[in-house]
Amino acid sequence: MDIIVCKFGGSSLADGPGFERVWDIVRSDARRAYVVLSAPGTLDGAPKVTDLLDAAWDGDGDALQRVIDRFEGIAASLGLPGDYYATELTRASHISRACLMSRGEYLSARLFADHAGLPFIDAADFIRFDGAGRLSVPRTLDRLRLLPGRVPRAVLPGFYGAGPDGRIVTLPRNGSDITGALVAAGVGASLYENWTDVPGLMTCDPATCPEAKPIPEIAYRDMRALARGGARVLHPDCLAPVEDAGIPTRVKCTMDPEAEGTLIH
Ligand code: ASP
Repeated sequence: MDIIVCKFGGSSLADGPGFERVWDIVRSDARRAYVVLSAPGTLDGAPKVTDLLDAAWDGDGDALQRVIDRFEGIAASLGLPGDYYATELTRASHISRACLMSRGEYLSARLFADHAGLPFIDAADFIRFDGAGRLSVPRTLDRLRLLPGRVPRAVLPGFYGAGPDGRIVTLPRNGSDITGALVAAGVGASLYENWTDVPGLMTCDPATCPEAKPIPEIAYRDMRALARGGARVLHPDCLAPVEDAGIPTRVKCTMDPEAEGTLIH
């Protein structure tokens, strides 16, 4: 059967209703087998969870508690137990900046997996870096190729992996797009869906240009040039793994799931 890998950004996962909306989208198509998640994004002016974790490592005393409150609030709104967030975040806060910053994605994926009743898979076991902290694409793809035979549906955190010594290493900021692309390439997906808060790649910046319209399709080559030039829809480094594997990417809008979005192929 066709496999779809879908990645959801932090704007889709800002609160409990966001998590429910994402689960509705995932379960509406049985081909959506692997779900890659970001950390909760901004909410009512509150910073992104990843920014709070970064500030916490730099010694902002309130930041860690704000992240704990954020996860406990989401868990409560989904009727899930809220007990392990504080323990996990406090543990990570003694390890490294990368480990602490990765916990936004880790907890987001655990919470979603609990809500959806799907297996959770730790990205540290699949997304691999070398001893110098560089992403090792061949090793990562080799591991991910084993996934469909072992766990046919699962939820994975974006944004991080691990080095040869098991230490957590993060991808660049907004790097969950890269995780999603690697998972799509590794499991041999027929489509990589990248779910975000905009209707697709737009003809111009919708913030300044009210007549902006989604572009229905674009070639990888042109998308790469736009992403490098500053189009913020996708991380520029997420295109190569899927393009190399011949997998199309569709940018979709979580708030308007029926809309076609933009197909990159
Ligand atoms: N949460 C991380 C960031 O804010 C990664 C991501 O969202 O893709 O950069």
